[in-house]
Amino acid sequence: MTVSVRTAVQDLAGRELDLLVIGGGITGAGILRDAAMRGLRAALVDQGDFGAGTSSRSSRLIHGGLRYLEHGQMRLVFEALRERSILLRIAPHLVHPLPFAFPAFKGDRVPRWKLAVGLGLYGVLAAGGNVPRPRIFGKAGMLALEPNLRVKGLTGGGLYYDAQCDDARLVIGTLRSAIAHGAHACNYARVTALVTENGRVAGVDLVGEVGQVAQVRAKTVVNATGPWTDQLRKMEDPAAEPLLRLTQGSHIVARRSRLGHTRAITCLSPIDGRVMFILPWGDLSYIGTTDTDYTGDPAQVHPTREDITYLLRSANSVFPHARLDEHDVVASWAGVRALIDGHSAGPASSVSREHKVVTGSGGMISVAGGKLTTYRRMAAEVVDLVLADRRLGGSAETPDSTHASAGTDTEPLPGGESATFEPFQTAGAELGLPPATVEHLIRTFGTETAAVYNLIRGDRKLRQQIHPEHPAIAAEVVQIVRREMVVYPEDVLTRRLRLATETSDGGKAALNRVAALMA
Ligand code: FAD
Repeated sequence: MTVSVRTAVQDLAGRELDLLVIGGGITGAGILRDAAMRGLRAALVDQGDFGAGTSSRSSRLIHGGLRYLEHGQMRLVFEALRERSILLRIAPHLVHPLPFAFPAFKGDRVPRWKLAVGLGLYGVLAAGGNVPRPRIFGKAGMLALEPNLRVKGLTGGGLYYDAQCDDARLVIGTLRSAIAHGAHACNYARVTALVTENGRVAGVDLVGEVGQVAQVRAKTVVNATGPWTDQLRKMEDPAAEPLLRLTQGSHIVARRSRLGHTRAITCLSPIDGRVMFILPWGDLSYIGTTDTDYTGDPAQVHPTREDITYLLRSANSVFPHARLDEHDVVASWAGVRALIDGHSAGPASSVSREHKVVTGSGGMISVAGGKLTTYRRMAAEVVDLVLADRRLGGSAETPDSTHASAGTDTEPLPGGESATFEPFQTAGAELGLPPATVEHLIRTFGTETAAVYNLIRGDRKLRQQIHPEHPAIAAEVVQIVRREMVVYPEDVLTRRLRLATETSDGGKAALNRVAALMA
């Protein structure tokens, strides 16, 4: 395994690059794809596994962001809703429409009439999109939708649609699409310093996982390191003012049967009135999120005891019969938001989710903030700037420089070539696979499920489940090892498959099997 790391790092050093992207989260992956599709010779490096930063720790929603309407951020919501439509189209296996019930209770910060206005506006901003329009219900209607909701104080509510997505797999799909267009991507390769030439950033020094070093040069360097953005900007200019305010967001996972909801639930926490979600994910419910200032190492963020108490209390207030306590927490995770705000002292949840692109004193382009949902637009904006920069530098080639022609909004991600999955259901049944496994395969691989079936036809033993609590099978691991740039078993267990948050032992029971399959 380490051999491939060494080769990849050193392979990059020998290339002539137009663009080097630092950071393999969704932002960097999107930039790499956009750049490659516009004809740039581009590469990306990440200090860890792709997506291991914030991009595998989100609430996994592709959403307009209903709550941003409260802050009057119409443009952000409109753009995000447009991106939602695009992602539902180009990655139908990873991004699914999801109905949300939003109950209103007496005394809530957002009463039913205000919710009705907000949902009406949300529907208008999403008009022409590919999900149904929002609807408003009285108390009986809400209870018909979600019978286990708290009855006391319920005044009614709304039903609206957003989309759910496997965030880490969206990163991998985006990177694989970039690679198919000629880009290079290397995980476990950390940037330790920027290389400058005549005051301009002209490359980076890299250290690989086993200590191998390399210098990679590129005409333009983009810093897409999410919560690490200011650390990289300091490498360029030690006096650079911080761009970011970091906040921690935690989630807990409980068995869905304990809460008894069918749809996603949007609700207001009884503790501070913040908008939060209870999201269905198979037999599980993801409850999140918190939003508190964070000053530690972004790689070491974990849910705190207070976070867990906050999330349990909030969920119990909407589903009082559940009486969740710490013993009901199957798994948990936390991520760090990189919010654009150097100095504000207001509550973290009020800080804008807009993004910012800045060019530093050495010409490095840094992009920060934003959302998973809007990564494609952010990427287009950054690549526009890269191209403008290269033109100023008098580059010989003139790759395609318009958004529209890049095709990032029309070309499917790998596995997203069709949204018709019935043939895979039929073929899975013929192979004797349980329906839950077939469903899991389709949601994980989309049309590439066909390749997994071929593996099984070649070796029937690959039909075996890798964990007693999870539908994933051995053939998936083989497929992932061949196509998805994994280095360690943890990459498989935590990000390519989500056993770490979908099993009560964090996927440990599958570790030896995965390691053996990788070997
Ligand atoms: P990251 O994913 O953090 O990627 C940055 C990468 O840079 C990391 O992989 C890191 O390893 C790498 N890096 C850092 N330093 C170096 C170095 N020196 N050398 C090489 N690589 C380096 N958005 C939505 O649209 N929907 C949601 O439901 C949603 N929910 C969220 C919930 C939470 C709790 C949080 C925290 C965020 C949520 N977001 C959501 C926001 C979204 O997750 C982020 O905007 C997005 O993932 C940020 O991606 P990124 O690529 O900018 O950063």
